[in-house]
Amino acid sequence: MDVRLDLKLDTLVHKPDPEPHIDIDRARCLDCEERPCIVVCPAGLYVWEGDQLTHNCDGCLECGSCRIVCPHDAITWRYPRGGYGVRYRWG
Ligand code: SF4
Repeated sequence: MDVRLDLKLDTLVHKPDPEPHIDIDRARCLDCEERPCIVVCPAGLYVWEGDQLTHNCDGCLECGSCRIVCPHDAITWRYPRGGYGVRYRWG
């Protein structure tokens, strides 16, 4: 059975929280050579552009992986407020 991640992600519904639920201390990112957040985020929300890390909370799957893998504790993470965030469809 062929399963494409992009098609699975298209089945999700996002209601972005106007208050970002992820904060990044970008000064710490400058010292990071590995940047595992870019690799681990299943939604591809972390991008290194020029000389800084960019991130967009819209589309976050709320897996928490980025917070766990960050070797510099540069990511402050919480769930979006009630009523906001990702909704997974059932079935
Ligand atoms: Fe990406 Fe998961 Fe972090 Fe959201 S919580 S930004 S989906 S790694």
